[in-house]
Amino acid sequence: MSNDELFKEALTHFPGGVSSPVRAFRAVGGTPKFFKRAWQCWFEDEDDKTYLDLCMSWGPLILGHANPDVINAVSEAMKEGLTFGAPTRRELALARRIKAMVPYMEKLRFVSSGTEAVMSALRTARGFTKRDRILKFDGCYHGHSDGMLVKAGSGLVTFGEPTSAGVPAAIGELTSVLPLDDFGALTRYFDEHGMDTACVIIEPVPANNGLLLQQLDFLKTLRELCTRHGALLIFDEVISGFRVGPSGAAGLYNIQPDLVTFGKIIGGGMPVGCYGGRKDIMAVVAPDGPVYQAGTLSGNPVAMAAGLATLELLTPALYADLDHRANLWSKAFEKIPGLHCPHIGSLLWPVFQESVKRADRINSGSITQFNHLHRLMLEQGVYLAPSGYEVAFLSAAHGAEALVKFEQAVTAVVPEFSNASPGV
Ligand SMILES: *Cc1c(COP(=O)(O)O)cnc(C)c1O
Repeated sequence: MSNDELFKEALTHFPGGVSSPVRAFRAVGGTPKFFKRAWQCWFEDEDDKTYLDLCMSWGPLILGHANPDVINAVSEAMKEGLTFGAPTRRELALARRIKAMVPYMEKLRFVSSGTEAVMSALRTARGFTKRDRILKFDGCYHGHSDGMLVKAGSGLVTFGEPTSAGVPAAIGELTSVLPLDDFGALTRYFDEHGMDTACVIIEPVPANNGLLLQQLDFLKTLRELCTRHGALLIFDEVISGFRVGPSGAAGLYNIQPDLVTFGKIIGGGMPVGCYGGRKDIMAVVAPDGPVYQAGTLSGNPVAMAAGLATLELLTPALYADLDHRANLWSKAFEKIPGLHCPHIGSLLWPVFQESVKRADRINSGSITQFNHLHRLMLEQGVYLAPSGYEVAFLSAAHGAEALVKFEQAVTAVVPEFSNASPGV
């Protein structure tokens, strides 16, 4: 069946024809590509067309698609059984590797997704502090648990409003939402609510609503305010963990969170998440403490093997190399008139405006231009995430050949943008 035929059938099975809404191409128009197979930084769709992949499964594949070492580790583990529902030495091996890379990780628990990691970290923070209120930031994504699908309320700053139907207003009211990069709002919030806040959760490298790189001072101030008020600081490093450096954004910025959440890269393409940090806090988690959290497939041996094989290949040299490549790819992207490409580690954000630090400062005109770019690049055989609010991911498999292909695509689309007005 062709892509179009498959999608037609998919529409009869799944809402929007997809298993996750971001895959639906609603923002950019057109029909989602059905992947047939993928290797390195390439994939082939069901129409047998090959694309250069810059979405890379939204982050897990820092080594590229179907890395031979990861595939071997998974195959070996599979032969010994797919799931035990009981402890396995592979969990220990992955935990050891994580602790070696992330110095402040004293104790951790494996789960099966980033959403679960966040949900569990929040419950742990509430259980530890015996407080209910949570603070998050507009422009950060923390998975789809009820308490995180909340935006700033229109009237009272204190109370968040659900962004999804099905989330009770009463749950929204326990989550406060502030803009990023607003020192005044942050100080005012802590003056008023610091003492009843269980935790503050932030993506230290906000990369789910564009790439909203923060001033180091903002994160430092946040750390200080949390400490002073007895609120826990949670770094959601589901994207940035093992991506912007061996110890994530916390290591890069030298700021220690109380708890951290990982996902994506930690499973090397298999469903793995984890949360952890200070051992006095993790002591409240069951069965040691009263905070319940469990999972049938948690610590799954096959997933652990994929994660371990991936993390074992993440060396300082590899990160230096990825930084270098990100510079080259970003420069290539910026040959498109009006396009800026901020980047950190191997995360890049093609955007038609200059330095943005807050979600509410992203221009709709910039997004319209991205949608145009997306269609043109797809025609050229380059697959970007189907939304202007998403970053592009490079991997260790994006080598010289891929860059040449990318530069050719950029050259081909440049004339389409020469007369474009800047995003307004
Ligand atoms: C992807 C992501 C999540 C959610 O992870 P899932 O595995 O999709 O549930 C949470 N937080 C951040 C920062 C993410 O990037």
